[in-house]
Amino acid sequence: MNNTLEIKNLNVSIDGQAILKDFSLSIPKGEVHALMGPNGTGKSTLAKVMAGHEDYTVESGDILLDGDSILGQEPDVISHAGLFLAFQYPMEIPGVSIANFIRAARQSRLPEGEQIKAVEYYKDLYAKMDALKIDRSFTARSLNEGFSGGEKKRCEVLQMSMLDPKYCVMDETDSGLDIDALRVVADGVNLMRNQARAFLVITHYQRLLDYIVPDVVHVMYDGRIVHSGDKDLAKELEVKGYDWVKEEFTDAIVGA
Ligand code: ADP
Ligand code: MG
Repeated sequence: MNNTLEIKNLNVSIDGQAILKDFSLSIPKGEVHALMGPNGTGKSTLAKVMAGHEDYTVESGDILLDGDSILGQEPDVISHAGLFLAFQYPMEIPGVSIANFIRAARQSRLPEGEQIKAVEYYKDLYAKMDALKIDRSFTARSLNEGFSGGEKKRCEVLQMSMLDPKYCVMDETDSGLDIDALRVVADGVNLMRNQARAFLVITHYQRLLDYIVPDVVHVMYDGRIVHSGDKDLAKELEVKGYDWVKEEFTDAIVGA
């Protein structure tokens, strides 16, 4: 389907153990979906499989961007296709400055023989850093090296906005963040929200969703989505926790 990120009946295992069980989800451009659920239910596995991580075995199913399968593609191909993944624990790359890292990523998207214009690039970079309240001194620092949790997240949101992806997946981008850093992440996402882009925000906690108000909330348990609703579902989970999801789900299995 055009203008949609589709995950269809995905079955994924690691070392013979099933993690994602017939997992399906569709996100049309223009929407922000939140994926919530207890630890160990497979949220990060989903994000990693989408990014083309090779540790996981996809038994069946498909992942499509605008109707084209990205399953089994190399991470750089997936990124060029318009998917951006922000991870819970971003990599540190000593010796590579943020400015040069993002520049290389952008350059790799240009047609053969075309060069990034430095003046325009820095103009754009600085405008986005200002919008995200990132100090200029950051551009010269090595990627994520010695960064605090909040600085890493700011930097990821900067990369995300500079790469202009069609689909953004953020895996627990809020974990360990203080309220200021949380707002920076949320402001970045809200600035980027538009009809030409979709987001999947994966989070264990409701807190981030006070700032990034989702169109749809999904609850994941045991490798699949067991509940979907509007933003109020996140609030309900905040109050009731996840135990009722587990109980309801277990009852359904036992009753079946
Ligand atoms: P979540 O992000 O929802 O907390 P994960 O996707 O990280 O869940 O993990 C889901 C399940 O898969 C857990 O039982 C976890 O132990 C297992 N798992 C994930 N990655 C690996 C791995 N690399 N090796 C072995 N087991 C893994
Ligand atoms: Mg996780």
